[in-house]
Amino acid sequence: MIPEYGSKKFQCPHCNTVATQEWFTANNASNTATNILNHLYLNYRPNIDDYSQQKIVRFLKEIDNNFKRNFHQFVPNGFSVATCSSCDEFTLWVNKEIVFPKKTTLPPPNPDLNDEIKDLYLEASSILIDSPKSSTALLRLALQKLLEQVGKSGKNINNDIKTLVSEGMSPKIQQALDLLRVIGNNAVHPGQINLDDNTEIAQKLFGILNFIAEELITKPKELEELYADLIPNDTQVHIKQRDGT
Ligand SMILES: [Zn+2]
Repeated sequence: MIPEYGSKKFQCPHCNTVATQEWFTANNASNTATNILNHLYLNYRPNIDDYSQQKIVRFLKEIDNNFKRNFHQFVPNGFSVATCSSCDEFTLWVNKEIVFPKKTTLPPPNPDLNDEIKDLYLEASSILIDSPKSSTALLRLALQKLLEQVGKSGKNINNDIKTLVSEGMSPKIQQALDLLRVIGNNAVHPGQINLDDNTEIAQKLFGILNFIAEELITKPKELEELYADLIPNDTQVHIKQRDGT
């Protein structure tokens, strides 16, 4: 749940909790102020005589109109603040875009990726909000490096995927690779998929890169380790003899 303008609930970039957000904008500022005043007078009014009541009602109405007219001078249009109910920290919004804090709540890169790829992943995540397109282009580069890490050329993603498919790679992983390839290509050579304002698509690609790393690097590694640990050496030899490898 990435922060979205006007959303009552999102994952707070400060505390990472999915929490209720209290919005303050030019439009609701005057209402909030009027509500506070009305509430104050509600407690005060039982103690005063009927004659003054009328005056107070008129006074409150006038103040409400005044607030509605004048609040825009103090709270510019397009400016909003959302306060997190969980940590009390705020996010600042200008023209419906989050401008503070400039970070997202993405999962960390798969720990089995080479450091160079982890760095690319983190760099891509740091610019996601400012430029989903640049972020996606960096992820595409990360994918090329990942293909290198698993022993492919890394030079032509399409050919590398083709090789992996011919080696028996599962169709699900192939889809993930092609998703990243096709959308990544759109970031480098603009095409049908417009990434300019689409943080959501770009954000999903981080999860896809981690999924690919999990399937192509982490799982095979874990299986190998388990095999080496649990299958006795002479049995391993028998298995090799059986398969002629
Ligand atoms: Zn928070």
